[in-house]
Amino acid sequence: MLQQRGIQTLEELRAVDLREVRQKAIEKLNEYWADEEEEIKMDDRQFRNVMGKFATGVTVVATEVDGKVHGMTANAFMSVSLNPMLVVVSIAEKAQMLEKIKQSGTFSVNILSDDQQELSMIFAGQVKNHQEVEFDLLDGVPVLPNALAQISCVVSAAHVEGDHTLFIGKVTDILVNDSEPLIYYSGKYRSLAEG
Ligand code: FAD
Repeated sequence: MLQQRGIQTLEELRAVDLREVRQKAIEKLNEYWADEEEEIKMDDRQFRNVMGKFATGVTVVATEVDGKVHGMTANAFMSVSLNPMLVVVSIAEKAQMLEKIKQSGTFSVNILSDDQQELSMIFAGQVKNHQEVEFDLLDGVPVLPNALAQISCVVSAAHVEGDHTLFIGKVTDILVNDSEPLIYYSGKYRSLAEG
C-alpha cells in the first residue's frame, strides 16, 4: 500500500495520515469477509445436496413430557454399538424435540413403513390441520403403531456438535413388523424396488 502511494523516505511516511490507511485496511478486510460469507452460503447448499445423495430410511422420534407426546421426523439415525445396544439420533438445536428429550430422558425411534409417508410429513411439520395421531407404548415410551420397527431407548449420553445434539440411546426394547421401508433420497420419498 505504501509502495502504491510512492512513499520511499521516512519523512514521506511520517506525513501519511495513518487513520486513512487504517480505514482502507478495514474496508479491504470487510470485502474479504463478504466474499468468504458468500462462499460459505454456496457450500451450505452444496453440502445439503450432497448429503441428500445418501439414501436413508425415515424415522419418527417420539417422547413424552407431562403426559403429552411429541413426535419429530428424522433420518439422521444409526445404530452405534451392539454390546451394549446403542443407537444415535441427531436433533437440530432449533427443534422443539431437543428440550423434550432432555426433559424426559427417553425416546423412541420408529422406522416408517412405505405406507407411512403422511406420518413423516405430519411430524416434519409439512401437513397442517392433520388428524390426531395415536401412539402405543413400548417399555413406557410412546411408539407409532404399524411402524416397520419400534425402538425404545433411555438417553445414555448427549453430545452437542455444531447446531445439532447427538442423543445416544440405550435400547430398552424393540418390536419389528413385516412391511417394506419408506426411503428418502435427494429430498424425495421413494420405495424399495426389487432388482
Ligand atoms: P414441531 O415442528 O413443533 O413438530 C413437528 C410436527 O409434528 C408439527 O406439525 C406437530 O403438529 C406434529 N406433532 C408433534 N407431536 C405430535 C403429536 N403428538 N400428535 C400429532 N402431531 C404431532 N430434523 C432434525 O433435527 N434431525 C433429523 O434427522 C431430521 N431429519 C429429517 C428427515 C426428513 C425426511 C424430513 C422431512 C425432515 C427432517 N428433519 C430433521 C426436520 C424436522 O422433522 C422438522 O424440522 C420438524 O418440524 C422439527 O420438529 P420440532 O421438534 O421442532 O417440532
